[in-house]
Amino acid sequence: MKKVLFVASEALPFVSSGGLADVIGSLPKELVKNGCDTRVVLPLYSSIKDEYRSRMTYLGNINVPLSWRNQYCGIFTLVHDGVTFYFIDNEYYFKRQMLYGNFDDGERYAFFCKAVLEIMPIINFFPDILHAHDWQSALSVIYLKLHYSGDPRYNFIKAMFTIHNIEYQGIYGVGIMGDVFELSPWERKIVDWNGDINLMKGAIECCDILSTVSPRYAEEIRRPEFAHSLDPIIRDKAYKTRGVLNGIDTEYYNPSKDTSIYKTYSYKSLAGKAQDKAALQKSLALPEKPDTPIIAMITRLTAHKGLDLVVRVIDEILGDDVQFILLGTGDRDYEDFFRSLEYRHHDKVRSIIKYDKDLSKQIYAGADLFLMPSKSEPCGLAQMIASVYGTVPIVREVGGLYDSIKSYNEFTGEGNGFSFSSFNAHDMMYTVRRAVGFYRDREFWNGFVKKIMQIDFSWKVSSLEYIKIYEQL
Ligand code: ADP
Repeated sequence: MKKVLFVASEALPFVSSGGLADVIGSLPKELVKNGCDTRVVLPLYSSIKDEYRSRMTYLGNINVPLSWRNQYCGIFTLVHDGVTFYFIDNEYYFKRQMLYGNFDDGERYAFFCKAVLEIMPIINFFPDILHAHDWQSALSVIYLKLHYSGDPRYNFIKAMFTIHNIEYQGIYGVGIMGDVFELSPWERKIVDWNGDINLMKGAIECCDILSTVSPRYAEEIRRPEFAHSLDPIIRDKAYKTRGVLNGIDTEYYNPSKDTSIYKTYSYKSLAGKAQDKAALQKSLALPEKPDTPIIAMITRLTAHKGLDLVVRVIDEILGDDVQFILLGTGDRDYEDFFRSLEYRHHDKVRSIIKYDKDLSKQIYAGADLFLMPSKSEPCGLAQMIASVYGTVPIVREVGGLYDSIKSYNEFTGEGNGFSFSSFNAHDMMYTVRRAVGFYRDREFWNGFVKKIMQIDFSWKVSSLEYIKIYEQL
């Protein structure tokens, strides 16, 4: 049986800021079901709720050396949904208000990555494959290959590094290379990128297999417009790069069992969905109009989500008989814009500027159309979640959106959403209007919704692809 250790900075249901947490919270479960002994290491953030803490078992503590530091590291464990999680405890690093964005994030995650390697003898688990995710976990791959490979217990461990978003790379000044990252001057070439330390680049260099979260994104990041400066190294490492489309947790996102929504439903009858729509309109104090399409967005408010297109044409779209609901937090300018949009179109728009998992599910259930006009999108989960809740995605053909959503073709009947290609506001508006046009044909629409709800976006297929890669490794 393959032994795999996931290293990540967030996972549902413990701690979450975006899609990475969805993946780390759901893929290991499926791998375990397929006979792969998959375990996960996470930092023990103070924000992790007592309901989980109270179920954890204390395994012991060690001191983790990092450069001149020698830091306490408590080790806790918890089996959740059949998956063993390990938590690295150190209140100095992980008792913080913010998950990321602290001045010393580099040091926090360097400690975490070093701890991952140091705890292996204590937890008595030397994996066949160390599978690290995004820049916060990059140093676990770098340390494994540079500092631990001389030890026979670590020597055979293969490293896989998965990029969930290439935009965040962990870039630091060279001045702290030795002091914080415990890397010596002759190791600089491994992590050096354009004169800075770039942790993601270091992991790309050191890993045995590199992957991204959709086949399309694996190709896109070879190009400068998607790679945030890393395209030369990605092209260089194309021989060891794979793209595996993410799945979603179809137990957690299941409209026939979801306790967060007003009324459960399935593709067999959409009566519940209509009630969810009415309940959503009521709870947000929008006019309760069953035949007015609700266009929803649930997203981090950052530029790569394509919000500039929305800003450009949303007033025009709101000239039609539609309602618009946005749930998101992020850049101040966008937050302000959507607040003012609600103010200007109070009878049609609700902008809810917060992170709220329950409300997000109520919106997935109650809305009719889900807008995702991303400029870049490594995979995107929201379009898949929307689909299983029967909310038709409107997407730009990029990254994982391209891989998961095909535009409806009225001549062949193929397709599971609506899409446009150019990053152009009027192309987006045209596509929204096209979708709304089809929405007005109620008979067609009900059939279409039922069809997309039955698409399998679970991990079934993709988890087998991961297992194939592990076996190759
Ligand atoms: P990304 O990882 O780039 O943020 P994804 O589409 O892959 O984008 O995943 C986003 C996940 O975060 C989805 O599960 C989405 O529902 C959730 N999400 C985003 N913003 C919010 C919010 N404000 N409240 C609740 N959930 C949110």
